[in-house]
Amino acid sequence: MSWELDDDHREFQATCRSFVDREVRPLVEPSEAAGTFPAELWKPLGAAGLLGLVTPAAHGGADGDGLAVALLAEELSRASGGIAVTALVSAYMAAPHIVRHGTAAQQERWLPPLASGEAVASIAVTEPGTGSDVAGVTTTARRSDEGWVLNGRKMYITNAGLADLLIVAARTGDPGRGGVTLFLVEGTAAGLSTGRPLAKMGWHSSDTREVVLDDVTVAADAVLGQENRGFYQIMEAFQLERIALAGMGVGHAAECLELAMDYARQREAFGAPLTHLQTIRHKLALMEIELESARLVTYQAAARLDAGHPEASRSVARAKYVSAVACNRIVDDAVQLFGGAGFVEESPVARHYRDARILRIGGGTDEIQLEILTRGMAS
Ligand SMILES: Cc1cc2nc3c(=O)[nH]c(=O)nc-3n(C[C@H](O)[C@H](O)[C@H](O)COP(=O)(O)OP(=O)(O)OC[C@H]3O[C@@H](n4cnc5c(N)ncnc54)[C@H](O)[C@@H]3O)c2cc1C
Repeated sequence: MSWELDDDHREFQATCRSFVDREVRPLVEPSEAAGTFPAELWKPLGAAGLLGLVTPAAHGGADGDGLAVALLAEELSRASGGIAVTALVSAYMAAPHIVRHGTAAQQERWLPPLASGEAVASIAVTEPGTGSDVAGVTTTARRSDEGWVLNGRKMYITNAGLADLLIVAARTGDPGRGGVTLFLVEGTAAGLSTGRPLAKMGWHSSDTREVVLDDVTVAADAVLGQENRGFYQIMEAFQLERIALAGMGVGHAAECLELAMDYARQREAFGAPLTHLQTIRHKLALMEIELESARLVTYQAAARLDAGHPEASRSVARAKYVSAVACNRIVDDAVQLFGGAGFVEESPVARHYRDARILRIGGGTDEIQLEILTRGMAS
């Protein structure tokens, strides 16, 4: 295995970086202040091919791979975690369920508009009473003459207020893993409502809400994948989701290291730039070591996932954990290095610091990644 990106991925990385500089960075501060995703960004993201990386070309995508998703996540997060997660949830946490398990009709209906940015998707699994324990879903779906009727509540759902399509996990069978099914629910469905946007520590430009399903009727062909196999479909989709989140961690960390180096070169204390202090230089070196370690395990995990490597899911869990933890240490170091200038609300390092924390929670907490890595150790 090569430890360097190949030419295609390097070129793609450069494309992402220039897209982000040109189209995303100017929108970051206004959308943070407004607390909303900049809607005008969907079409350019789609036109640049950044929403269909893992969608088949026949449905408007690029037939790309998970490593490209990691690179995109990294570049978007260098600019903004809130903007990054909004796009990534729709394109790489929700849409791949349809890529992998959709019927021809479902794929035809949803994949082209999701890849072009004309439609937005959510994945609604977490509930007020269950998050890490995905098999504990209590939202119900019962058969009716028209198809299925869904009832329940979902919590902390990204893009809920923007979504044309929600992929909803509901119980159709026995308690536990074998009784969960995924459904395609249109955002306009009667009986579906969303709460107000939740005020969050970070990701201010992303939309996160409670979703209430009150006798929501969907047709029989709204089942996504196999009945009672939803838990396993979610676990499968978590692999790419965690690659995207690990990529986000690398992006926040890379941006903060760069900001910290620039600041240390120009900020003077005791008559000289901060970089003249060995403790500061060592701090920057340690930040770089952690960043490069996180980047390496993330790229390795993405490459293994793409190759169908037998250790892929362990690599993905390791990358999700290492990247989230390293990122949180690096953004904290950056705030420390900035001193008071790092604590004021409008400082970019303060924003990265706030945005980084969720990476240790969303898409499977640190503890869940460790649980995956400890499987088989006790026996
Ligand atoms: C901003 C935001 C956006 C989100 N977006 C979405 C979304 O789009 N769709 C969606 O479905 N969900 C979403 N979530 C939910 C997110 O995935 C969950 O918050 C996360 O999976 C943790 O679940 P929980 O909050 O219920 O915590 P719990 O599962 O209640 O966990 C609480 C604590 O217990 C620990 N714990 C739990 N089980 C174990 C165990 N077996 N071993 C050791 N420790 C354990 C956890 O690690 C954690 O520290 C989002 C959350 C946030 C905050």
